[in-house]
Amino acid sequence: MARTDPDSCPGVLRLHEAADGPLARVRVPGGTLTPEQLQTLAAAAHDLADGAVELTSRGNIQLRRIRDTNALAERLAAAGLLPSRTHERVRNIIASPLSGRVGDHPDIRPLVAALDTGLLGSPRLAALPGRVLFTLDDGRGDVSPLRPDIGLHALGGDRSALLLAGRDSGIRVTGTDAAEVLLAAAHGFLELADRQWRLHEVEDGVARLTALLGLEPGPDRLEFTGPADPPIGWLPQHDDLVALGAGVRLGSLPARTAEFLAAVERPILLTPWRSLIVTDLEEGAAEQVVRVLAPMGLIFDATSPWLRITACAGQPGCAKSHTDIRADAAAAVESGRTDSPGTGSDTPIPAGEITTTGRQHWSGCERRCGRPTVAVTEVTATPEGYRVALPRD
Ligand code: SF4
Repeated sequence: MARTDPDSCPGVLRLHEAADGPLARVRVPGGTLTPEQLQTLAAAAHDLADGAVELTSRGNIQLRRIRDTNALAERLAAAGLLPSRTHERVRNIIASPLSGRVGDHPDIRPLVAALDTGLLGSPRLAALPGRVLFTLDDGRGDVSPLRPDIGLHALGGDRSALLLAGRDSGIRVTGTDAAEVLLAAAHGFLELADRQWRLHEVEDGVARLTALLGLEPGPDRLEFTGPADPPIGWLPQHDDLVALGAGVRLGSLPARTAEFLAAVERPILLTPWRSLIVTDLEEGAAEQVVRVLAPMGLIFDATSPWLRITACAGQPGCAKSHTDIRADAAAAVESGRTDSPGTGSDTPIPAGEITTTGRQHWSGCERRCGRPTVAVTEVTATPEGYRVALPRD
């Protein structure tokens, strides 16, 4: 499938003109933010945008209704969040968020840095579409199900499986040349692509890319099931410190809450489940974080219904939306209607009559942007009301 348009993924220097104003997307490879960087984002959200730091399903950040593009770029560059003006949109790297801290899987973090450095160091790779996704899974199976164009899944020792177009290619690589193989695959994608945005859109893309790389697939293929649940609550680290997983309501973090998080002065990890993790805390500090930030809306309870609900942008950010979808979804959660027996409805019904349960995705129109790849209840706005489709088995 050849696209007729270049991809339109926004960045910091090329904004998306949303219905409510310019939208910027800030790439955060591996989802790792220093407290200073989070403070910069919080201040930018307050001073230059709509007051919220939005978490994306790729572990990146979005700011809406940008009022001063140059000031935003200057602030982000000074904080190390815009290290390249040419490559900013290609740094789409999701890594297992808890790698190196929790669990006995290999530490994938050095590979994040090596891959990002390699992307930034290749002028040609600036031409990658902003949709191309890299994943680095330390073997726990949390990010490999996210259908990367190019990814690695650690197998133990220093071996990894190479993922192409969302599946195990059968190719096995060793730690010493892992980053080089990923970068070679990215170059190969550019060679094969004829305006396609993703590897799976290229005809026979995986077979042709495998041949181009000169690597021989083995007979075994890993299967990935997903998605993983976001890590929420108390997470003991190897080093006797604690990480705290926190859910964020509909992925929108108020700037004031982000400032409080930054003030904890610990590294923050953004996850692809629109949640975050505060890391490297002493136990007493972790208790204090929960005491202060839970009343501000962060979710430390893994049973919270907020963790099972996603929603597209809706009004006022999207002109296609039939309604303010996030307000309706939030009202449904707060009234307990997303935790009651789910009822499907082919006939459009008012928001106040919707009852749902389990994982669900609310959309402002039939395009259903951001719908998870697994079975969910789909709550979709139409001009006449909402249709509710229960998950198919
Ligand atoms: S699903 Fe429709 S309303 Fe929602 S963001 Fe996408 S295009 Fe806009």
